[in-house]
Amino acid sequence: MEAALKTKTSSLKVLNLYHFFPDKLNLYGDRGNIISLVKRCEWRGIKLNVIEVSTTDGLTLDDMDMFFIGGGSDREQSLATDELQKIKGKLKQKIENGVPGLTICGGYQFLGKDYIDANGNRLETLGILDFSTVAKQPRLIGNVLIKSEKFGDIIGFENHGGRTYHSFDTLGKVEKGNGNDDESNQEGLLYRNLIGTYLHGPILPKNPTIADFLIEKAIEHRFGAQSAHDWMTALDNKLENQARNSVWQRVKNG
Ligand code: GLN
Repeated sequence: MEAALKTKTSSLKVLNLYHFFPDKLNLYGDRGNIISLVKRCEWRGIKLNVIEVSTTDGLTLDDMDMFFIGGGSDREQSLATDELQKIKGKLKQKIENGVPGLTICGGYQFLGKDYIDANGNRLETLGILDFSTVAKQPRLIGNVLIKSEKFGDIIGFENHGGRTYHSFDTLGKVEKGNGNDDESNQEGLLYRNLIGTYLHGPILPKNPTIADFLIEKAIEHRFGAQSAHDWMTALDNKLENQARNSVWQRVKNG
């Protein structure tokens, strides 16, 4: 009976994506990441429900299969931090259990223990992972090229004052631009199935290997490894790859 029930449920192919504070945290096309995830699921016959979270009151996260937090100004970051503090224990548990998440710039900085703004004020952040961000001048602005062992070539756009210092795995090595800071030549963070990155752009449409990683891990978390394998049919990424290659060449030679 239980087995029959399981088969029936998994044949529904439905996943839930929690999008935290889309009204406050959405810079430089971050919302395009959601569109990319929804589409790449749809092309595989998977329904990705997007749950827009504007308050965390009463939130259990029980049905959350994936989450997204975009970038924001220091002010909006501070407001969102107050809200996220209320669920940080649950969010940490989900991350530890392998729920995939994509967090961009301000959203990435939230995961650490603090953010020191340009005036030296300390904003206590979620403390889910042990790292710090310090804002300095000049702001790091421009196109970014990354060589990633896990995801291949990655392109994006950065605009941040914060320098993030940590010893977790990163997305890859910076070929052009800055990434986490202006010294290490490393970009982003990878912890279990959580990605932190400074790349706006949005990052996913032009870097579909990252989008597919998140989708695959979400399926795996909810329905198991076999379903993740079966549902992740190959998609034609010709246009996405052409777009990325053309930007790569332009930025590299620019
Ligand atoms: N306020 C942060 C910074 O400047 C985040 C900016 C962003 O999300 N683009 O570092």
